[in-house]
Amino acid sequence: MINVIKKFKETQGSTIIFNFIKKIITATNLRPTLLEESPVAEKVRIYSRSEHIISRSKISENALKVLYRLQKEGYDAYLVGGCVRDLLLGREPKDFDVVTNADPEQVRKVFRNCRIIGRRFRLAHVHFGHEVIEVATFRGVSETDSNKQMLDKEGRLLRDNVYGNIEEDVWRRDFTVNALYYNIKDFSVVDYVNGMDDHKAATLKLIGEPVVRFREDPVRMLRAVRFAVKLGFKIDGGCQQPIKDMAELLGSIPSARLYDEVLKLFLFGYALQTFEMLRQYALFQVLFPATEQCLASEENGFPRQLIIKALQNSDNRIAEGKSVTAYFLFASLLWEPVQQLAKEKLKQGLPEFMAYQDAANEILSRQVKITALPRHISLSIRDVWSLQPKFNTRVGSKPSRLITHPKFRAAYDFLLLRAETGGVDPELVDWWSKYQNASENEQRKMTAPARKKSPAHSASRKRNNRKKTADSLTDSQNQ
Ligand code: ATP
Ligand code: MG
Repeated sequence: MINVIKKFKETQGSTIIFNFIKKIITATNLRPTLLEESPVAEKVRIYSRSEHIISRSKISENALKVLYRLQKEGYDAYLVGGCVRDLLLGREPKDFDVVTNADPEQVRKVFRNCRIIGRRFRLAHVHFGHEVIEVATFRGVSETDSNKQMLDKEGRLLRDNVYGNIEEDVWRRDFTVNALYYNIKDFSVVDYVNGMDDHKAATLKLIGEPVVRFREDPVRMLRAVRFAVKLGFKIDGGCQQPIKDMAELLGSIPSARLYDEVLKLFLFGYALQTFEMLRQYALFQVLFPATEQCLASEENGFPRQLIIKALQNSDNRIAEGKSVTAYFLFASLLWEPVQQLAKEKLKQGLPEFMAYQDAANEILSRQVKITALPRHISLSIRDVWSLQPKFNTRVGSKPSRLITHPKFRAAYDFLLLRAETGGVDPELVDWWSKYQNASENEQRKMTAPARKKSPAHSASRKRNNRKKTADSLTDSQNQ
């Protein structure tokens, strides 16, 4: 039915007639889901410039250029999404997203520095040096909502690529606070979904029926946690239980997308709180099942402590403006599952080196299926892990070779983390801290073998040393 109307709208081009028919359908109940649930235009609330705190001085100059230029060309142009939400909180937005009624080709004609991206839904990227302003065309309520063929059998959104108008665009956004539009025409904030009230109440509320919206796109559950932590908002009561009930649906999300989401969750300065909340909502176990299993059977707070410390360190580094890496995060989260699996393999009689290597391979390949870690990331994770036993050798030329390894610094930081959480003797870490900062001469002294007494004595000590190194390797890996 909606297709017929849409066709009619396209051919006749009359919004008034379209809206009139929409109303008849609503009144006669011909069209169920969408029109019943959709925030209708009559609900719109316009907050004038004096009723909100968004000032143009806080908007990126390039975003303003894009907005003004589109407006000058006769198009509608709004800021939307996270930037409006963050500006209303007095925060500096991460990026600025523009939405317009111009289609991507029309946008391209307006800007020379513009590239069209995306196959499924085409977007315009306007480039200004390093800054990219994303310009999207309003999305429409495609057949998706009226014709179930556009949803898979689990109710997941398969296609979402129809252009529409602002009233339709609102409906496909996730949370009400993410569906506020800043209009460049009069600097007002346009609100169809009571987003301003929810914003004031610091609440994340899904637009529409939570169960339906989470089923359409389960990643919205992760977004709920991410925004709750980042903004200090609470997740609306109506969304809480559905997340716990539907967490497993995340398993159907392509692993590449989940990997990106995990990075957004854990590498933006709120990793620890995010971890706790993901566990609270049963989402962590879908992202990191092997880790969750270890946590569930943990003893004496271990390995929780190592993960907590790693996430805390990562948050502190971000707060200090330092960089954090994806591989260190994954190395920390997956360390304990590797240890446990290696122990099982040792029990099965595998030689030690192979037990650890096989365990690392197995855990990583399982994780890649859930979150598609790029190859260079899994290689770095493996390096961090495989360098750990090498720290036990403090004699001879090995230490000087170890410190030239490209992943030495990360592996040393990981050793530090293990020491801080009781997994390694702190004396070993002290030795390596001293060794790194020592002069070449001192380093030679530190790694010199103990003085020989007699040839016979020396031979027997060599044998002993070899045994000791092997033993301590086992100790370290078993910790
Ligand atoms: P951030 O500060 O992380 O950029 P954001 O809200 O801008 O937050 P984006 O991923 O940049 O998040 O998305 C921009 C906007 O697009 C969102 O505010 C929301 O309106 C909409 N959106 C993004 N992802 C989804 C989704 N999975 N479902 C529905 N709407 C979405
Ligand atoms: Mg954004």
